[in-house]
Amino acid sequence: MLHVETLQKSFDGFMAVSDANLIVNKGEIIAVIGPNGAGKTTLFKLITGHLKPDNGKVYFKGENIVGLPPYKICKKGISLSFQIVNIFNRLTVFENVQVAILSYQKKSLNLFSPAKKLAIKETNEILENVGLIDKADNISGSLSHGDQKVLEIAIALGNHPELLILDEPTAGLSPEETSATIELIKRLNKDLGLTILFCEHDMDLVFAIADNIMVMQLGKTIIQGNSDEVRCNTEVQEAYLGGGSDT
Ligand code: ADP
Ligand code: MG
Repeated sequence: MLHVETLQKSFDGFMAVSDANLIVNKGEIIAVIGPNGAGKTTLFKLITGHLKPDNGKVYFKGENIVGLPPYKICKKGISLSFQIVNIFNRLTVFENVQVAILSYQKKSLNLFSPAKKLAIKETNEILENVGLIDKADNISGSLSHGDQKVLEIAIALGNHPELLILDEPTAGLSPEETSATIELIKRLNKDLGLTILFCEHDMDLVFAIADNIMVMQLGKTIIQGNSDEVRCNTEVQEAYLGGGSDT
């Protein structure tokens, strides 16, 4: 479904991503792990068109999508949920998801237009799926951080993705919220058939759910493989046990 080949991006001469490689097959849950600053967020922005790579290729369902603007890549079926919560605080939970659906359908964004009546069923379905239906009428800004992260995922679902990319979906969450988010990721994969690519810096957590893991360090892909292959890799062991910060 997704094939990233020798992707590169530098900022003012600093190589944030120097050699990223990734293969994601349909129906898989794939994790990208690596310490802070490894280039995970930059990689996700390169895949989704929020940044333009200096070099390399990104194939989505066989087509090289490098150079396409974010909205076109989104239309093709890749949706990104950002590391930093990116919701409309003053809108309700329901309205945040509805706006995403309407904007996907290119309907008017004016919430006072008849369009507001549209997409109600779909919005409710998504809120049901992610477990936010009871909070549909809450003002988004008043939600807990955990619920805001889930709402962010719900908004991404409004774009009808085939590939859902989640940037640190459990960052800042309590252990209980973290397990709920893990369950949600598994459920979206199993029940909705979504292919999911997410990043994390906690290795134990990804071993629990990912079919396949790609490890990044200093902008480079060290390895992509199953948990055993990753665990046994000496470079990974050095990166994680050799004193590098993984906060
Ligand atoms: P991660 O998500 O793995 O923590 P990032 O992709 O956010 O890593 O960042 C990788 C490196 O690139 C870091 O050293 C970061 O400071 C740098 N970087 C990221 N975005 C920019 C930018 N817009 N301008 C300059 N440097 C950046
Ligand atoms: Mg990041």
